[in-house]
Amino acid sequence: MSVPSRENLVLLSGNEAVARGAFEAGVKVASAYPGTPSTEILENFANYEGVYAEWAPNEKVAVEVAIGASMAGVRALSTMKHVGVNVAADPIFTVSYTGVRGGLVIVAADDPEMHSSQNEQDSRHYAVAAKIPMLEPSDSAEALAFTRLAFELSERFDTPFFLRSTTRIAHAKGAVKLGLPVVPPVVPGIVRDPAKWVMLPMNAKRRHVLVEERTQALVEYAETSGINRVEPGSRELGIVTGGVAYQYVKDAFPEASVLKLGMAWPLPEKLIRDFASTVDRLVVVEELDPHIEQHVKALGLEAQGKDLIPICGELDPKIVREGITGVKTALRAPETVPGRPPNLCPGCPHRGLFFVLNKLKAVVSGDIGCYTLAALPPLNGMDLCVCMGASIGAAHGIEKALGKEAHGKVVAVIGDSTFLHSGITGLIDIVYNRGNSTVIILDNHITAMTGAQENPSTGKTLQGEKTHEIDFVALCRAIGVEHVYPVNPHDMAATEEVLRREIAREAPSVVITQAPCVLLPDHRRRVKHVYEVLPDLCVGCKACSKLGCPAIEWVPFTPEDAALAGKKPTQQGMTRINPLMCDGCNQCPPLCKFKAIVGKKS
Ligand code: SF4
Ligand code: SF4
Repeated sequence: MSVPSRENLVLLSGNEAVARGAFEAGVKVASAYPGTPSTEILENFANYEGVYAEWAPNEKVAVEVAIGASMAGVRALSTMKHVGVNVAADPIFTVSYTGVRGGLVIVAADDPEMHSSQNEQDSRHYAVAAKIPMLEPSDSAEALAFTRLAFELSERFDTPFFLRSTTRIAHAKGAVKLGLPVVPPVVPGIVRDPAKWVMLPMNAKRRHVLVEERTQALVEYAETSGINRVEPGSRELGIVTGGVAYQYVKDAFPEASVLKLGMAWPLPEKLIRDFASTVDRLVVVEELDPHIEQHVKALGLEAQGKDLIPICGELDPKIVREGITGVKTALRAPETVPGRPPNLCPGCPHRGLFFVLNKLKAVVSGDIGCYTLAALPPLNGMDLCVCMGASIGAAHGIEKALGKEAHGKVVAVIGDSTFLHSGITGLIDIVYNRGNSTVIILDNHITAMTGAQENPSTGKTLQGEKTHEIDFVALCRAIGVEHVYPVNPHDMAATEEVLRREIAREAPSVVITQAPCVLLPDHRRRVKHVYEVLPDLCVGCKACSKLGCPAIEWVPFTPEDAALAGKKPTQQGMTRINPLMCDGCNQCPPLCKFKAIVGKKS
């Protein structure tokens, strides 16, 4: 990447740069489901003038919206995290056959190291499997440039394009030169062409041939376009790399010859062969799977890769250098910092629910969301968690597998956004197939885990417009659930009563815990009471600590301290509530049978 002049230079994250690139490419329609590390792309794109951006209920719908816009001759963007690509895979594999009218780009943001994901998944496999070309930027400047380019190439080759980023690219900032928006060449409007757009088998068979021809044309492009480039260096070591791994290679081996692949698929065979012939030792450096390495080896070239570079987690220059040289690099000892295990926020409504489920010894089939943190001590409140929307189907499966043995024990727990994403079909399955499971919808009125995005139950769109707000009670009844009960999860006694009754019920039931996420601005603006522990009354029994609220702290005593405080010498400490953290949720006072927790006066 050439160094840009200072004119129009701004610092952008990779996600901001993709949003800007889409705007400059003339994209008019964008649809996504939020998912770290991709979320900020749509949040930023939505702020540009003259564009339409939306949160879809899931990634499959998001891609379908983009396909419709493309068919109408408008450039369209759909973004998602890696696991979202699995959800969207069905339309993705077929839009590869239909091709596009307006340029269509799908951003797949992978999360090596699983900073906030349930698996490490390499989306480059999707490019190969779906026969969709993929660009892979190495910094923010390329994120913008490659996004613009992907739209041009999408129309030129009549194909959707993937743009793959990873967490480091998505969230790290870099200097970017802004450009002006272009007017795309395709004229918006409906052009009827069923042979291209209606994938009946007779049409799909013809389109498959075109897809294969297109891939050949794209290989030619990959060989010569310059998006894949050789950076000559020493003959001793030649490295083939791409994406963020390119940065680590340049840092670790500034003297090496490098073949930087900006196009992750299809790969330029001749270019790779020619490069290999110029170096004595060929090494492939890539994060996650040996995607490039396998293709290099399939060309009959001798190369090293995953025998030196880890297949799990993120890379960095040290890992790359040590892997290739085999020499350990001395580092200064890391600073010792106090551990900070992940936890639900103080005042989180989910805490009360999981405390109750724990008390009821329920087997909890969980889902993807903030509430997954309840699996950790002290709540230890989850027994299974697979993927978005899986909690309900899995609970039903447990009940069907164990019959009477499971009855009265199993619940599914799922967030509001996740229920609408892909949980609703599981509930339909329970009703249709005469299951008995109890489903708990945690309605905190936002998509909280990705940083508070609107969803179809919040009454507001991504671009801030008021809209219809889904009523979960009416929705569940419409599906056929006769027993639907909203509860306030901060009122743990009432929640326990309803849950005891519903878990025992021999019919499908839904309990909806209704309380807003504590991080929502409206909630935070409320004037709230906080709570305190009266030192004279606290006997240090730790019953309140079982909630795991970060605002409840433990003050240890020595026997002398205890004596001074007028306590029994056996008391080892007492609790204290941090007034800056307490959210006033009122979950802990009922747990103290000594009535030591009270509302703070001032
Ligand atoms: S505040 Fe109450 S529940 Fe908490 S440790 Fe003290 S006595 Fe026990
Ligand atoms: S009231 Fe108790 S449980 Fe709720 S935030 Fe305050 S300390 Fe935590």
